[in-house]
Amino acid sequence: MQTLTPSAQATDLSTILEQIHTEAQALFGQGRVASYIPALAEVAPRQFGMAVALVDGSTYSVGHAHTPFSLQSITKLFTFVLALKTVGDNLWQRVGREPSGAAFNSMVQLETEKGIPRNPFINAGALVITDILTTRYAHLDYALLGALRRLTDDPDLSWNARIARSERETAHRNMALAYFMKSYGNFVNEPELVLDNYCRQCATEMSCTQLAQATMFLANGGRDLGRDGQQDEQFLAADDARRVNALMLTCGAYDAAGDFAYRIGLPVKTGVGGGIVAIAPGVGTIAVWAPELDAKGNSVLGAFALERLVQLTAWNHTP
Ligand code: GLU
Repeated sequence: MQTLTPSAQATDLSTILEQIHTEAQALFGQGRVASYIPALAEVAPRQFGMAVALVDGSTYSVGHAHTPFSLQSITKLFTFVLALKTVGDNLWQRVGREPSGAAFNSMVQLETEKGIPRNPFINAGALVITDILTTRYAHLDYALLGALRRLTDDPDLSWNARIARSERETAHRNMALAYFMKSYGNFVNEPELVLDNYCRQCATEMSCTQLAQATMFLANGGRDLGRDGQQDEQFLAADDARRVNALMLTCGAYDAAGDFAYRIGLPVKTGVGGGIVAIAPGVGTIAVWAPELDAKGNSVLGAFALERLVQLTAWNHTP
């Protein structure tokens, strides 16, 4: 196992990413592109991109790292952060912070737990978070986009309207989750309105390089890095950044969170678009995208690539 020193970092990281890219290609064909959202099924399966952004401002990438992809559940990370910033700890009255051990779109726990979802990263929990934000923002879609454009420094960042529509037209299960929670008094707005916001949110597109940049504040004690002459910004309180990372580690990969912690040992958030973002606190962020998913909805090549990266850098042993 190799630990990178700053001087060795630049060449070594580029070489490591190239090596992972080569190794990962052997896994093409082992997973399947998500198809329950019809427009996602049209994505070409054999794609792989990876980007690393370090807290010193340097960036590295390989493969399709500049290709925009559908963030899907990775947006749950950003809406959770936005809710934490706007309503603070009050949100814990409506959603828990325990791993679910169940599928991302499961309904079973909701009945025994009286409409309170296990955590903000499963669909039911993310819908509650979107409900909270729908109450707070007249135009949540644009409020979220504004925050993401600021974090990526990309004024053109947007959601894919076709994918949003495709999910909205087939969102029967998410609608059922929302109505079920409403029956328990844990949903304030009309489910139709919240689902409109949720489907646009999930259809947000970013590339790996943008995603690594957008999550930098989580590796950097809540501070986003200033770029292009801008000042650093305390985007999230340091204590909250630590809490978000803890939640990603325990709940960020659906019912495979334990397996991810075992294999990778870093806070992650996955999405059915095939993206995964991982945080190495104090070191940097890693975004990987490969659309073929395993049975639990996580990117096969993405998980492999992150596992190889921590083996080759020992970043999961740093603070
Ligand atoms: N928009 C997707 C859904 O609600 C997100 C699922 C995911 O990425 O896990 O089903």
